[in-house]
Amino acid sequence: MNQHARVDLKPIPFIDVAAQRRRLGSAVDEAVARVLGHCQFLMGPEVFEFERQLAAFCGARHALSCASGTDALILVLMAKDIGPGDAVFCPAFTFCATAEAAALLGATPVFVDVHAETFNMDADSLKAAIATARKLGLRPKAVIPVDLFGLPADFDAIAPVARAENLFILDDAAQGFGATYKGRRLGTFGDATATSFFPAKPLGCYGDGGAVLTDDDALLERLKSHRVHGGGTDKYDNVRLGMTARLDTIQAAVLIEKLKIFEDEIAARDRVARRYAEGLSDVAIVPRVPEGRTSVWAQYTIRLAPGTRDRLADDLKAQGIPTAIYYPKPLHRQQAYKQYPVAGNGLPVTDRLADEVISLPMHAYLEPDVQDRVIEAVRRALGR
Ligand SMILES: *Cc1c(COP(=O)(O)O)cnc(C)c1O
Repeated sequence: MNQHARVDLKPIPFIDVAAQRRRLGSAVDEAVARVLGHCQFLMGPEVFEFERQLAAFCGARHALSCASGTDALILVLMAKDIGPGDAVFCPAFTFCATAEAAALLGATPVFVDVHAETFNMDADSLKAAIATARKLGLRPKAVIPVDLFGLPADFDAIAPVARAENLFILDDAAQGFGATYKGRRLGTFGDATATSFFPAKPLGCYGDGGAVLTDDDALLERLKSHRVHGGGTDKYDNVRLGMTARLDTIQAAVLIEKLKIFEDEIAARDRVARRYAEGLSDVAIVPRVPEGRTSVWAQYTIRLAPGTRDRLADDLKAQGIPTAIYYPKPLHRQQAYKQYPVAGNGLPVTDRLADEVISLPMHAYLEPDVQDRVIEAVRRALGR
C-alpha cells in the first residue's frame, strides 16, 4: 500500500510572514503612510517612540535602534574598545554574526561549547576557553552568550565565570528577544543585549533592523556616537570611528505595530511548541525549557540519531513540508573562522549537535490541523 496516497501535499511555509501581514492589515499600511507623509526617513519621531516602547517592553533603561542585529553586536564591541589582542568568547553553535562582530574589529573569537539539552553556552567550557585564550597570550575581554532558538542562555552559570575575569557580557538575543529568565524579559541580563529585527526573527520588521538594550548611560552615549560616524558635539565633529547604522523610520513604524501583537504571538508560538512536544517526544529528542525560563521558539529544533535526518527531510519535502538545519557546520569548522581557537581540546557537543539537529516549521500562525500534518509526517518518516 502506498501510504502517501492519502497524504495532503499542499506546501506549507516554514515561517509564515504573510499570515502576520494579513492579521496586521491596514495598521502597517497607515503607519508607513504617515512616514511617507512627514518624510523624516532617518531619525524620525517613530524611531524614538519605538526605542522608548522597546525599552519599556523588556524593562531596560535604554534601547538604541540600529540597522541590523549584526550592527548591534559590532556597535557594543566598538563602544567597549575591543580590538586586536582581545579575546571574545562565543559559542560555535550559532549564526555566524555572533563571532563575525568580534572578528571584524580585529579581536579573536574564542569558541565555547554548548549544552546538548539547551543548545546554549556551557559555563565550564567558557572557563576552559578563558584558560586557552590566556595560554595564547590574548586578553579575555568579553563573552557573548547566545539565546539560541529563542531560549535564554544560563546567565546564573555564566555571570560568575565572567565576573571573576572581569568580562563584559553581551547577550546575543537576536533569536530570544521576548523570552524570560526568572520572570524578567531578555534585555537586562549582562551589560548589554543585542537583538535583530530580520523578518524571520520572532520580532521582525520588513527589512533589516536591530537594537541594543542596556542600563548603562555612558555606554548609550558611546553607542549613539558610533551609530553615526563617531560624532562628537555634532555630526561634523568626528571624535572616533563609527558606522552608518541607523534604523530606518519606516521600519520603526512597522515595529511599533508589530510590538502591539508580540506578546500574543509569543503565546501562540508556545502553544505550537507544546503541540509538537506532545506529538513527537516519543520519536525524537524534543527541546525542553528549563525551570525558570521561557522560550520564544525562534526555531523548533529536534534531535535525531545521526544519519536519519536527511531521509526525514526528503520525506517531508515530498509532502510539501519544509525543514531546515541550524546549524550543519559549526563556526569553528567554517572556512572564515577555522583559524580561531576553541575551548580546551575541542567542542564535542557542538560537533555532535551539528549531525543531529533538524528544525520544523514554527510560527505564530501555524494552525493545529496543519501542524498535525507535520507531526504525522515526521512520525511516518521515522517509522512510528
Ligand atoms: C540573526 C542573528 C544575528 C544577526 O542579525 P541580523 O539582523 O541578520 O544582522 C546575530 N546573532 C544571531 C544568533 C542571529 O540569529
